[in-house]
Amino acid sequence: MKYNVDEWGYYGEFGGAYIPEMMHSNIKLLRDNYLNIINSEDFNKEINSLLRDYAGRPSPLFHAKRLSKHYNTNIYLKREDLNHTGAHKINNTIGQILIARRLGKTRIIAETGAGQHGVATATVCALMGLECVVYMGKLDVERQMPNVLRMKMLGAEVVPVVSGNMTLKDATNEAIRDWINNPNDTYYIIGSVVGPHPYPDLVARLQSVISRELKWQLKEHTGKSDPDYIIACVGGGSNAAGSFYNYLDNEKVNLIAVEAAGKGVKTAETAATIATGSPGIIHGSRTMLIQDEDGQVKEPYSISAGLDYPGIGPLFAALNQSGRVTFESATDEEAMEAAFRLTRLEGIIPALEPAHALAVLDKIRFGLKDVVVITLSGRGDKDMAAYMSYMNRMNNIS
Ligand SMILES: *Cc1c(COP(=O)(O)O)cnc(C)c1O
Repeated sequence: MKYNVDEWGYYGEFGGAYIPEMMHSNIKLLRDNYLNIINSEDFNKEINSLLRDYAGRPSPLFHAKRLSKHYNTNIYLKREDLNHTGAHKINNTIGQILIARRLGKTRIIAETGAGQHGVATATVCALMGLECVVYMGKLDVERQMPNVLRMKMLGAEVVPVVSGNMTLKDATNEAIRDWINNPNDTYYIIGSVVGPHPYPDLVARLQSVISRELKWQLKEHTGKSDPDYIIACVGGGSNAAGSFYNYLDNEKVNLIAVEAAGKGVKTAETAATIATGSPGIIHGSRTMLIQDEDGQVKEPYSISAGLDYPGIGPLFAALNQSGRVTFESATDEEAMEAAFRLTRLEGIIPALEPAHALAVLDKIRFGLKDVVVITLSGRGDKDMAAYMSYMNRMNNIS
């Protein structure tokens, strides 16, 4: 496959494994075994039954008729919001915990920002009876209390990180430190297509179930398995990678990735990495990142915690460079409007992250006959406070 990672973990000039020496043995163990494991029959039997009976897959493909009418095109929603725990993250954590067990690991660590990946990790640890430690910036612990409580109820230990800005970047550093100190019994479940090789490739493969299902579901709905457009939001890029994966070699399918512009790409308060970043190294891989002239990572900003990340998966840095994927961005305000539009037209409250993907419907004019797929990566329960304050603000204006 043309867009696949090479044997050294690179997508063109991006990717690789820039890691401390002390992490080397664990990364090598994973790198040497992950393909054999995920291609084995017993792994596939186990993951397929869990994806079906535990996560609730296949996730439905829904023809959004009123939204389609509004935009004069044909819009289908890939309903990852209906998965167990409310987002696509569970696809990845189920896969990685099965790998961890096959590598003989008994203790799981993870980092989390908004808490969605932490919850998905704590969930599969409860399911498998494995010890779970989740690192989370202290600021995020305070901002995302409902998810912290879910993790605790699931039996995970949530460690508030007080270094740096006390957010995701610092939580990731702390998780790496933990892995270095516990090299024998511990496995690190990374939550997106980021980090050192082989994580970006591993997570993309585990999320590729999204586009695998999309092919037969589109065929059922429309008579052909290829849409004209697939649109997904990108933080690190895992739901987009999964949505695009089985279409990357089919250049007739237009792939659109949507970043969080925050207050706007011309302001300092943004998380749009492709729009405002430059090449550098973050969390073990060479990719695009938001940094100042001295190469210091800048604190990103987005209303949506899941997109509030200063980097992007190396696969996407390469897909941007080659032009295979088109990058758009949406501001906080545009995402809010799009979330309310979907809610009022279809009775679906989306998470704030995929609301950014929905906002692109206002920026691109699609044809009357076009088939447009949008991945609804998660549901909006976690974002009700933000939605309510927006609604109150609108009511005060009118
Ligand atoms: C975490 C999250 C994202 C962003 O992560 P990606 O790896 O870019 O997919 C998007 N949507 C939801 C609902 C999330 O929880």
